[in-house]
Amino acid sequence: MDVLEQVAERIKSARGIFVFIGSGLSAASGVPLYRDEEGKYIHPEVLPYTQRKTFDEDPARMLAWYNQKRASLDRVWPNGAHYALAKLAAFKPCVFATQNVDGLLEQALEHEDVDAEVLRLHGSLRISRCDACKTRDYSNAEWGLENRCQRCGELLRPDVVWFGEPLPRGLVDAATEALLESSVCLIVGSSGLVFPAAELPSYASERGLYVVEVNTHESHFSADADVFLKGPAEEVLPALNEAIGLL
Ligand SMILES: [Zn+2]
Repeated sequence: MDVLEQVAERIKSARGIFVFIGSGLSAASGVPLYRDEEGKYIHPEVLPYTQRKTFDEDPARMLAWYNQKRASLDRVWPNGAHYALAKLAAFKPCVFATQNVDGLLEQALEHEDVDAEVLRLHGSLRISRCDACKTRDYSNAEWGLENRCQRCGELLRPDVVWFGEPLPRGLVDAATEALLESSVCLIVGSSGLVFPAAELPSYASERGLYVVEVNTHESHFSADADVFLKGPAEEVLPALNEAIGLL
């Protein structure tokens, strides 16, 4: 039995799958990667825009950059890896914990008419929020000094997590709980460098889950994984579905 078939058998007999997702899932859609294989920033000029302090010091500049970034999402679509995960979720209970803020997995799930939980550990670029009263805004209106919370008048900002901000505790707890209900942990395209979310797969390994990593290169997770499937997600995941017998 080859390794893909072994993984397929494990998935077929799994009671549930915890899927941990990083930027590699969306690479083929054209969503730019922040880091290279060694974790270095590919475009160092984006670095300030990942930091909370830039927003505190110069909100207009930060929000202008995020307007462009959100607009770039209008030109990207789910790829074969997103659809493969949606099909997997139609076959077995899956909980997705994603570090991506692009919403492409959700689009694929909707397209395939699959209802599965997506825990967006780093938030969503398609949603706005007010830090003062925690109200969320789905209007897609341009961010800027004039775009204020309808409820309290504070600045609206992208509903993403910046360095210098905590991950939403409730989401990390929900992810941990989902992980404990699962028997397979599938890690897709994550470098494993952003903590604390990145600790979840190691935890899965400690708790005896069967850990499968799909990545173009070895990562922080590879040592803990039972199986490493090397290759781009949009090739490996459809091949895995085929081995499971999913069309
Ligand atoms: Zn508010």
